[in-house]
Amino acid sequence: MTEEKNNNKKTGARWSDDQPMVMPGIRRFQFFTNVDDRALTKNLNRLAMFSISAILALDVGKAVVNKIPQSIYCYECRACYGTQDKCPVGISYQAELVVAGRVTDYDRFLRNGGLKCIRCGSCQSFCVQYLNLPRMFGTMQILTMKALRKGKIPKRMVQNAFDQGLINKDFIDEVTKYLS
Ligand code: SF4
Ligand code: SF4
Repeated sequence: MTEEKNNNKKTGARWSDDQPMVMPGIRRFQFFTNVDDRALTKNLNRLAMFSISAILALDVGKAVVNKIPQSIYCYECRACYGTQDKCPVGISYQAELVVAGRVTDYDRFLRNGGLKCIRCGSCQSFCVQYLNLPRMFGTMQILTMKALRKGKIPKRMVQNAFDQGLINKDFIDEVTKYLS
């Protein structure tokens, strides 16, 4: 047994006697704290951390480049849904518009009535962060219309929004032209 233990030590393998007792008769294999065994997971951890940082930087960078930096501060708490009938055009999910702006998701923006918003500001007082929601929605409207002119938004998405009456008078002429 000692010979086997010595062989394992040479190859870096763990030996049960080396592990601390956690309960009588039970030894704990310290996979995550055993440096010899950790080389691969250490690198995987680094890769995971790098990926998470890159995704966060992309998310933040996109919002800043698109001039909707305040969207980064949205908690996604949905308190703004309390606007309800105080929204004159009946938009129910303001947070969806904020998140759509943060990640430049045109489909999400259209589906939730982004082009129907008249930027009145009624929803702003319901935001726990008091974010400038009308300004964010206005910026996203400009970006959406730019993308539409460049043909970057599939017609079926615009058609769905049109069929559901989710386009306000400011954009209806251009949207109708785009769909014809
Ligand atoms: S700013 Fe837009 S979403 Fe907010 S209450 Fe006014 S119309 Fe509704
Ligand atoms: S209340 Fe403000 S912080 Fe919360 S989800 Fe709505 S916009 Fe975001």
